[in-house]
Amino acid sequence: MSTLRFHAIKESQSYKPVIVEEKERRSDLFGKHVFNENTMRQYLTKDAFVGVIDAIQYGKKIDRSIANQVASSMKDWALSKGVTHYTHWFQPLTGATAEKHDAFFETIGDGMAIEKFGGDQLVQQEPDASSFPSGGIRNTFEARGYTAWDPTSPAFIYGTTLCIPTIFVAYTGEALDYKTPLLRALHAVDGAATAVCRYFDKNVKKVSSSLGWEQEYFLIDKMLAASRPDISLTGRTLLGHSPAKGQQLDDHYFGSIPSRALSFMRELETECMLLGIPVKTRHNEVAPNQFELAPIYEEANLAVDHNSLLMDIMARIASRHNFKVLLHEKPFEGINGSGKHNNWSLSTDTGVNLLGPGKTPMSNLRFLTFFINTIKAVHEHEALLRAAIASAGNDHRLGANEAPPAIISVFIGKQLTKVLEELEGVTKGKLSPQEKTELKLNVVGKIPDVLLDNTDRNRTSPFAFTGNKFEFRAVGSTANCGNPMTILNTIVAKQLRDFKIEVDKLIDKKGLKKDEAIFNVLREYIKSTKNILFEGNGYGKEWEEEAKKRGLSNNKTTPEALKAKISKQTIALFEEMNVMSRVEAEARYEIEIEAYIMHIQIESRVLGDIARNHIVPTAVKYQNILIENVRGLKEIFDKKFNSVSKEQINLIEEISSHIEGINANVTKMINERKKANVFEDIEEKALAYCNQVKPLFDDIRYHCDKLELLVDDEIWPLTKYRELLFTR
Ligand code: ADP
Ligand code: MG
Repeated sequence: MSTLRFHAIKESQSYKPVIVEEKERRSDLFGKHVFNENTMRQYLTKDAFVGVIDAIQYGKKIDRSIANQVASSMKDWALSKGVTHYTHWFQPLTGATAEKHDAFFETIGDGMAIEKFGGDQLVQQEPDASSFPSGGIRNTFEARGYTAWDPTSPAFIYGTTLCIPTIFVAYTGEALDYKTPLLRALHAVDGAATAVCRYFDKNVKKVSSSLGWEQEYFLIDKMLAASRPDISLTGRTLLGHSPAKGQQLDDHYFGSIPSRALSFMRELETECMLLGIPVKTRHNEVAPNQFELAPIYEEANLAVDHNSLLMDIMARIASRHNFKVLLHEKPFEGINGSGKHNNWSLSTDTGVNLLGPGKTPMSNLRFLTFFINTIKAVHEHEALLRAAIASAGNDHRLGANEAPPAIISVFIGKQLTKVLEELEGVTKGKLSPQEKTELKLNVVGKIPDVLLDNTDRNRTSPFAFTGNKFEFRAVGSTANCGNPMTILNTIVAKQLRDFKIEVDKLIDKKGLKKDEAIFNVLREYIKSTKNILFEGNGYGKEWEEEAKKRGLSNNKTTPEALKAKISKQTIALFEEMNVMSRVEAEARYEIEIEAYIMHIQIESRVLGDIARNHIVPTAVKYQNILIENVRGLKEIFDKKFNSVSKEQINLIEEISSHIEGINANVTKMINERKKANVFEDIEEKALAYCNQVKPLFDDIRYHCDKLELLVDDEIWPLTKYRELLFTR
């Protein structure tokens, strides 16, 4: 066995799990490291407290003197907890989180020093950020970027650092991060949804968007993971034969959690409690060593921050338990990949979930309004929604035989399908008193009962209604949820705005009553959005054909899918809703295309290297052993030689053909890379990587995996799937 693999296995086997005990109640730990409302009440003056709350709830500006007070209180609180540094914490478009620590410590002359943190440091910073992707924005405008405090997401302590959530923007105002457009989208949906809510309840002043993510991940022994160059450099395996036992037995799913993983989870969850991340559910997933973690849902901006933070903490805590967390969408071929369901809904400041039915016909009409408008929004912008989740990693799931498909459709279940069918029959224009009563009693009035026994689930749908929320299931496990949440909230905002215009027109011009007007508009929406509704098997070949007939897009690769991000329709949408300017949208597109190219390029280099420098030499070594063996057989058996050496000779030939297969394809791949690199146009380059370079991965892998089955296990250099996946 190669020394690396040998030592890795030995060490992983001798690892003794750390037992993590929980001494304090979780509810006592919750939010202890967060400068939340409770803490603010203790530390802030009344003025400052009111100022911050107004900023959080109604987006009011915070003036300088209040900022100074908040900064000073934050510092006192942080120092009382042993904190030495502060940082503006933000989410650049690389997908990770970024921080640059500064000490509170400052000298004041005469050999004296103090701890200092003022409003200026709280509100704005200029990170040395020239190496974050900007899609050319900063070059074009010769401007620098700065970070600015987001008071709607509370500061928190991580380790000995006070982290202040911020946006990251160019001096010319363009967003350079995930948070800025998200905040704008949340503002847009607030405005549009509040206006629609007021048809039903004049007291509503604000609507917020909620997000509950479900994070899937793999836990792999750290030493074993480190012994694989592909996992270390790309986060996934680029080759490796399926183990004799895979996930066929489904015996991991919801089974008992292995103790070592459990220790990791306990520590992770404790940290989450301190940071105010309300994690609630944990369980095994379908694949071996795959798990899921889900919190109680929160306001979307906060939930996005919490998920970004979580991904970071996971990696750090895993390391202490000798694990490596794999967040990649498809770390192992032939084994389920990982996603991150985004459960989404809208709720009012009066405490109503707009995607949950109510107790009266009027509140059910409100439910139907938001429900149908969401369907309509997805119908109008399905290609954009697909683009929102496009990445090199997610391409392995979407449309690649693993759920959900690359086609966006909406699942609503039998009962609600029936409700929509009945509403479709509503008379045009004014409704008769009998019809109104009938609607009230038998259609709208029956919705709560309908939903209570709505147990039908469709696991193959990328966007499903699940009782009181929509579940956007196609999001990838590494994704920053800010991206899909920005787009989903923007399209719904736009749709609600259009809806209100149409309803108002019917009221003003046609003299319809409010509920008549609403029924009329909804009826037309139901008629025009049927193509997006799909209740069948999303994985089936038939659905692809059917979807094509319906005119739904089916963009299986990232370069194809991303185009929707800069289509005329999208740019107009972003501009109208004040979510992104053309420059910002185009810059983002460029960054994402470039990230895609880089991804495939790195994977291609790593694969070529492993295949040529690890697999081929090992195959040759084994082949030489066989050749020696055949020579010996010849000496001993002489006349009978042909019959006793037949299998060995076959094997020698077979190995040669795989070596040739590897070498020829690696050479071809390098040539394709060279050709791709010549393209100046990044779209052409991305397509070349996607269509010319990437398909060769499969050919190379095929031969390597065949060799894995032929070559002596003792000398195989790479840690095998069975070792990676079944070590606990
Ligand atoms: P599932 O529907 O997947 O069986 P759960 O009810 O456990 O499961 O919900 C999954 C996730 O959805 C959790 O993170 C939960 O907090 C979140 N969720 C529940 N209700 C809502 C809602 N109204 N809006 C957003 N997320 C929600
Ligand atoms: Mg779910």
